[in-house]
Amino acid sequence: MAITHTDDAGTANTADWAALDHAAQAAADYRRGIVTKATTPTATYGAMAAAFAGPVPETPGDPLAIIDDLVRLATPGLRAMTGPRFFGWVIGASHPLGVAADWLTSAWGQNAANLIAAPAAAAAENVAGAWLLDLLDLPRESSVGMVTGATMANFVALAAARGEVLRRVGWDVEADGLFGAPPITVLIGDEAHATVYAALKFLGLGERRVVRIAVDAQGRLLPDAVAAALSASVGPVIVIAQAGQINTGAFDPLDIIAPMVAARDGWLHVDGAFGLWARAAPALAHLAAGYDLADSWATDGHKWLQTPYDCGFVIVRDADAHRRAMTIAASYLPVADGAERDPSHYAPELSRRARGFAVWAMLRRLGRTGIAEMVERHCSVARQMADRLAAEPGVAVLNDVVLNQIILTFGGSDAATRATIMQVQADTICFVGPSDWRGTLVMRISVSSGETTEAEGDRSVAAIIAAWRAVQAA
Ligand SMILES: *Cc1c(COP(=O)(O)O)cnc(C)c1O
Repeated sequence: MAITHTDDAGTANTADWAALDHAAQAAADYRRGIVTKATTPTATYGAMAAAFAGPVPETPGDPLAIIDDLVRLATPGLRAMTGPRFFGWVIGASHPLGVAADWLTSAWGQNAANLIAAPAAAAAENVAGAWLLDLLDLPRESSVGMVTGATMANFVALAAARGEVLRRVGWDVEADGLFGAPPITVLIGDEAHATVYAALKFLGLGERRVVRIAVDAQGRLLPDAVAAALSASVGPVIVIAQAGQINTGAFDPLDIIAPMVAARDGWLHVDGAFGLWARAAPALAHLAAGYDLADSWATDGHKWLQTPYDCGFVIVRDADAHRRAMTIAASYLPVADGAERDPSHYAPELSRRARGFAVWAMLRRLGRTGIAEMVERHCSVARQMADRLAAEPGVAVLNDVVLNQIILTFGGSDAATRATIMQVQADTICFVGPSDWRGTLVMRISVSSGETTEAEGDRSVAAIIAAWRAVQAA
């Protein structure tokens, strides 16, 4: 169905409309087959770069041929991240229903900056944001911003924190910047996620200009160390805690720490990219007790909620501080009246994807009970995998498996652990990756794919044990 009219390439024609159906079919076919797909791509980056390469397209192309080429070229280089045996990073599985809502989001092409310009997008986002506060049981007066992920959620929350703690000492950082501002003390656990440091870097708070607080064997903040650092600090203070340490899954004891930070008039931020979802699961909520006492929270949609990429949430108790940090005003933009909420006032971008549609759809698809069931299932699969692996001679589980994260060593050496990880990846039955835990190379297993069941966990354990035995035999 080659299209020969090249003069109207900027306007869509029937083949472009047909490409929508064609792509939807290819996408559905890919996802229906995901369970059987190898977890490691067959093509390397080099092969992919060669496959996509070519001269600059000089003339308009045929829509259906472009989609066909995209599917054919990309497929060998796709990693089965949406499959049930992908444990490589804390990653969601882009639930098909979320993808369907996301297709509509793209097709509708709403610029979700503004509720007057895009009322449906703003309404879905605002309603979904209120549902999130309820499900995560966080202060209902909080503002919610939908961003690209927890990295940007940490950035936005810490921007609000920076502005508010300086405002309390009479400094307007949004207007006057950081030059000459009273110094802010930032306290952060020694096992915080790298993206929090990135946020501090973006905000002029400095990756190195922080006070690193001692943690226990699971990476949890030590309350006494926090207390000592708070009393040694002078001026505005921001404390950064986490729900779900990226290696151990551990939670900082905020029921103890939050009141200390409040007594010091500090701002307490929580990086809860995945761990905050424990609050949506009755059997696990005790892990995140006291987390509602914080001032701001970062979490992801594209991890445990299984929304498609990209989706994160920034939640700030003091909505005014959130808004002061992010509002973009321009003479040509319509302004919502009074109580209404323009999505772009809570996120760094002006033009932005209407992420609220997929979030609203996923929250309806799973519901309160579905989220709880999934999060609890993942954690029980993780515990079962850890127990079975620990029973194998030479395998050691290094963390208390309180959530969905497992870190392991094989044969007590970095070399044997690395060889086992590489063997698992080469076998392509399941996917696990390496991490560093306090100077030891570990295999890390993150159970967070919506598709992962007990049976898939068992199959993966068998694959990991087989790889370890193969390494020993070699
Ligand atoms: C994944 C993760 C992040 C970063 O989130 P993105 O969605 O990748 O931006 C931050 N903190 C923790 C604990 C994480 O697991």
